[in-house]
Amino acid sequence: MSEIENSIADTGSWIDPDHVRGPLQALYAKLDSEITAHGPVCLVSGRCCRFKEYDHTLFLSEAEASVLIADAPPPTRPLDDGATCPWQDEQGRCGARTARPLGCRVYFCDPNYDGHAERLTERFLAQVRNLVDSLGLPWNYARLHHHLHAAVASGRLRIEAAGDGFPEAQSDGPDAVPSWDPLDISPSDQ
Ligand code: SF4
Repeated sequence: MSEIENSIADTGSWIDPDHVRGPLQALYAKLDSEITAHGPVCLVSGRCCRFKEYDHTLFLSEAEASVLIADAPPPTRPLDDGATCPWQDEQGRCGARTARPLGCRVYFCDPNYDGHAERLTERFLAQVRNLVDSLGLPWNYARLHHHLHAAVASGRLRIEAAGDGFPEAQSDGPDAVPSWDPLDISPSDQ
């Protein structure tokens, strides 16, 4: 059994996205507005969602995961054991933009934005926690792939299982320049 499978504790219950969607989206809108004020630029390098390749991990609460899974279109790529996000397409774009969780929204690799992600995460994660607690819901803050594999196991998400991310994932390093035109993406419409 894989590490991911071992980490799935309970797939028997799940937060109903209808219980949290409205207030969570209001928090996301507030967060997006603050991010916009900082003006980070996304060059669609894709590194933010290639977890293994760039050595980072996306954590999110079960409430955020429930809304992501319910509201995002079906992933276009297979589900691996944590190397990549199945919603990231092969051009590095996110297919779950409107439903993506806090951890995705705050992350930009723009050096002019350094430090803001940590401060915004601390403040807004506390607000998500307060929301979840006020509704009497479980927190269950875990890795993205914990939530996704649990959702697949319980039939709440239909997605093809796969190996280890993009076949080209090892071909470009951290300083790789994207081959497409840079996009200035406003976080408010991500
Ligand atoms: S949901 Fe979107 S932004 Fe978040 S890790 Fe997946 S592809 Fe990246």
